[in-house]
Amino acid sequence: MPVEPPVVSPRDLASAYAALAADDAGSGPARPIAGGTDLMVALTGELGPPPARIVDLWGLDALRGIALEADALVLGALTTYTDIRRSAACREHLPALVEAAATIGAAQIQNRGTIGGNIANASPAGDTLPVMLAADAVFVLGSARGEREVPAAEFWTGYRRTALAADELLLRVRFPLRSRRELRFRKVGTRRAQSISKVVLAVAWRAGTPAVWRDVRIALGSVAATPIRATRTEAVLEGMSPTPEQADRAADALALELSPIDDVRSTAGYRRIVAARLLHRIVREAGGW
Ligand SMILES: Cc1cc2nc3c(=O)[nH]c(=O)nc-3n(C[C@H](O)[C@H](O)[C@H](O)COP(=O)(O)OP(=O)(O)OC[C@H]3O[C@@H](n4cnc5c(N)ncnc54)[C@H](O)[C@@H]3O)c2cc1C
Repeated sequence: MPVEPPVVSPRDLASAYAALAADDAGSGPARPIAGGTDLMVALTGELGPPPARIVDLWGLDALRGIALEADALVLGALTTYTDIRRSAACREHLPALVEAAATIGAAQIQNRGTIGGNIANASPAGDTLPVMLAADAVFVLGSARGEREVPAAEFWTGYRRTALAADELLLRVRFPLRSRRELRFRKVGTRRAQSISKVVLAVAWRAGTPAVWRDVRIALGSVAATPIRATRTEAVLEGMSPTPEQADRAADALALELSPIDDVRSTAGYRRIVAARLLHRIVREAGGW
């Protein structure tokens, strides 16, 4: 029978940091829990050693809230998918994140699952992660040593590995707001709901006058060990107009750039073709042809 690890429920951030840093007679590092929709699955021990101690973040109001600042939309780590879907600020400034939130699990998971958990869990299939990469999001991390900022592009360091130290928490996510910035999200799974992604794609660009794309970002999930940017394909679209020829070139470039794996959810070939077609459609829709 699996043994339930002891749970600490800190009332403030300082107590949470202390609980994470405490060396409890060598029992192993403590793990934070937010909504628990990923971590509870790990408690059985069937997916690897379960956490020795748990620090429950749910009562920490410092990690909640959606704030519109002058140059950024800032989401606390405990922001749930339901919070995102209900937020007028998210719908206005980051509709692609609202679309991503709407595809995650069902209502129960959306009420409990948090963006902080999606980010820190570091699954390559985490649906919001390509949106974070394409939006140039910045993660604010905190510990007893202070706070630091890590760009999304530097956060996922390997398969299910992150830049978080064992005693650090993800506090909030800053999405920079830029004028004329466009961001699109697409997810392909086995079915329309309750499905783990086969391919997730987020594409961002700044629309110029005439219709030329600048600052192109193409980010993907479920096609590599971490969420990734397709920088060679970004270069193909940079400074170009969304014409049929550019869409063809970009789709070909993406199919060449990706090296996905075969796994239980999909084959490498399917992922490559689908990612390329999704990108082609986004360019086509932007070009209005
Ligand atoms: C039925 C079901 C369907 C699902 N469907 C989807 C889906 O469609 N798409 C998708 O992307 N995911 C899906 N998930 C996975 C999960 O719901 C999400 O990844 C969710 O965002 C996790 O958030 P959480 O708050 O529940 O994280 P938790 O389970 O509480 O934590 C997850 C990990 O993050 C760490 N952590 C959490 N918060 C912090 C923090 N603030 N600082 C540092 N570390 C932290 C924990 O220690 C743990 O390692 C599904 C899960 C289930 C059970």
